[in-house]
Amino acid sequence: MKASYGDFILKKAAEILAEPSPTGYTDKCAKLVMKEFEKLGFKAWQTVKGGVMVDLGGKDKKNGIMLAAHMDTLGGMVAEVKGNGRLRLTPLGGMNANNAETENVRVITKFDGEYEGTLQLNNASIHVNGDYNDIKRSWDKMEVVLDEIVEKADDTKKLGIEVGDIVAFNPRTVITKKGYIKSRFLDDKLSVAILLGYAKYLKDEKKTPKRHVYVHITVYEEVGHGGSASVPEGVTEVMSVDMGCVGDGLKCTERQVSICAKDSGGPYAYDVVKGLIEAAKKAKADYAVDVYPHYGSDVEATLRAGYDVKHGLIGAGVYASHGYERSHKDGALATCKLIAEYIG
Ligand SMILES: [Zn+2]
Repeated sequence: MKASYGDFILKKAAEILAEPSPTGYTDKCAKLVMKEFEKLGFKAWQTVKGGVMVDLGGKDKKNGIMLAAHMDTLGGMVAEVKGNGRLRLTPLGGMNANNAETENVRVITKFDGEYEGTLQLNNASIHVNGDYNDIKRSWDKMEVVLDEIVEKADDTKKLGIEVGDIVAFNPRTVITKKGYIKSRFLDDKLSVAILLGYAKYLKDEKKTPKRHVYVHITVYEEVGHGGSASVPEGVTEVMSVDMGCVGDGLKCTERQVSICAKDSGGPYAYDVVKGLIEAAKKAKADYAVDVYPHYGSDVEATLRAGYDVKHGLIGAGVYASHGYERSHKDGALATCKLIAEYIG
């Protein structure tokens, strides 16, 4: 597989990252992703739940494989319009207040457009607030300061901002000269782009996979039920393509593809893990096998929903997960190479 697929993947990742899709508000991003697969000549459609399903074709229809990545991300929701006209948020997914502090946001109202603001500690001026350094950051101690002239709750409500509105955090995507990609929400939009890279490879090389391949770009993964539905007939194996963990005690780096042997949900299917290692060696895809201490994947949701399938989990190494994340073009390319070799 040519190195240029790595560049294609990062470019597509940046485009997908630019369209906000906090879990529960994914439709615009879904339409964008669907169009990208259609542009490559594949049939794509939306599931009732809002995910995107793509048919990449393939020979063996009785032994199909589904590759699942999620496009929903962490985010926030307005929990209260405060007396001072500012917003108290509740997190969508596992967004941490300390990770989100000082980030610019877009408040997406249901009927009155979007507004800009910043998530700040309450009373955030260090020259005024003597306790600034000692306050444990939590959602109750933080507020969105709107870039609007608002002094009381009524001013904010007049703008059309209400409880239940979606708050999207600026991903701050940066691609460096050395091939690193830094952004919020690489989990899991980088993998969505990797699957686009794989689809482009099939098209460019006029390859028909040995097994029928479906791609499912799921929604609601960040709240645990992304992969719990929509497994097409004939699929006997589901592979989560999601961020690979990078950190103390683990081997993987951002320049590798991570093969997960076990996470919080238990071990992955033995012969799938073994097959992935064999395929990585054969494809000369730089890889690491790791055990993730705090992680649950979408395919575990598929199993818990009652589907009789084999399961695996792979993904490009991502550092500082659920914060300002970092990965690398080489890790993305290694993941794409591994997918192509494993499926055949
Ligand atoms: Zn994820």
